[in-house]
Amino acid sequence: MFDVVTGGAGFIGSHLVDSLVAQGRDVLVIDSLCAGKRDTIEGHIASGRARLLNRDLLADGWQDSFKGAGCVYHLAADPDVRQSAMTPDPTFRNNIIATYRVLEAMRIHGVPEIVFTSTSTVYGNASVIPTPENYAPFEPVSVYGATKLACEALISAYCHSFGMKSWQFRFANIIGARSGHGVITDFIRKLGEDSQELEILGDGKQTKSYLEVHECVDAMHFARAHARDPVNIFNIGSEDWIDVRSIADILVEEMRLTGVKYRFTGGALGWVGDVPKMQLSIDRLKALGWKPRLGSRESVRIAVQAALAEQ
Ligand code: NAD
Repeated sequence: MFDVVTGGAGFIGSHLVDSLVAQGRDVLVIDSLCAGKRDTIEGHIASGRARLLNRDLLADGWQDSFKGAGCVYHLAADPDVRQSAMTPDPTFRNNIIATYRVLEAMRIHGVPEIVFTSTSTVYGNASVIPTPENYAPFEPVSVYGATKLACEALISAYCHSFGMKSWQFRFANIIGARSGHGVITDFIRKLGEDSQELEILGDGKQTKSYLEVHECVDAMHFARAHARDPVNIFNIGSEDWIDVRSIADILVEEMRLTGVKYRFTGGALGWVGDVPKMQLSIDRLKALGWKPRLGSRESVRIAVQAALAEQ
């Protein structure tokens, strides 16, 4: 039996593939490579432990490959929160329609388990922080968050209607090697263009939880091994947070730059759909016995060092 990882050539997906191969699993990656890179899993392809099917989930030609799979890790998505406020259509299609098509292929081919990567943004601007999984009402403020909430609902319905099991993970900001988007990538690009001035979106006081990608993958496997309800929902994040200005400070220090001026675009939000304060309660996962080894600050430093090493 093999596992399918959609989006397995992307940032989190490629780390997940590393871990599955290390566990001795055979892996089929389905990725359109619109953001992912073949290089990230090349070693596993060469060793025969992973296969890559270069397909867009919105087109056909991949569904039959689900035959005989034990679990689909569905990570393929359009993860750009900011862009989803400018051009909602790709977010809607790559998140909701693609997830529906994955679920249909699972139903038709009898694949019993799905792992889904959701997000803290399903909570919107939560009044309870750290925000637990049973927080209500869900009021996403980004199109991205809304699409992920819709996917969660669809997956839940498929589990109850067709006897599947799901693990749905609401991630804080996941960072680390191979990441192609997010605040660290954005700052490195800007400092590459101008090492004397850094534009920071908003007032720099947006304060959020960050977790290093290996910890995130570890938490996913842990939850999957310890929770066996039809629908298992877990927050995954660190237990503290860090503001955007401090992330800039760590980056400037690691790049050994001096005299960098910060230019804030102003306002409490970095962009339309931004959630300026986010920290997730991870008590549900801790009650099962998992806890992160790293906090947000350490995660940021590791991710910054990894990103600079990749330059
Ligand atoms: P990523 O962009 O690196 O990975 C997404 C992958 O999906 C890419 O390899 C891309 O090529 C592929 N893909 C996109 N649309 C596709 C389609 N229609 N068909 C086939 N492949 C397609 O992003 P990531 O940060 O690794 O995110 C992985 C998952 O985790 C996503 O579902 C994202 O929404 C979720 N998530 C990420 C974070 C984070 O902080 N990185 C936070 C919350 C949730």
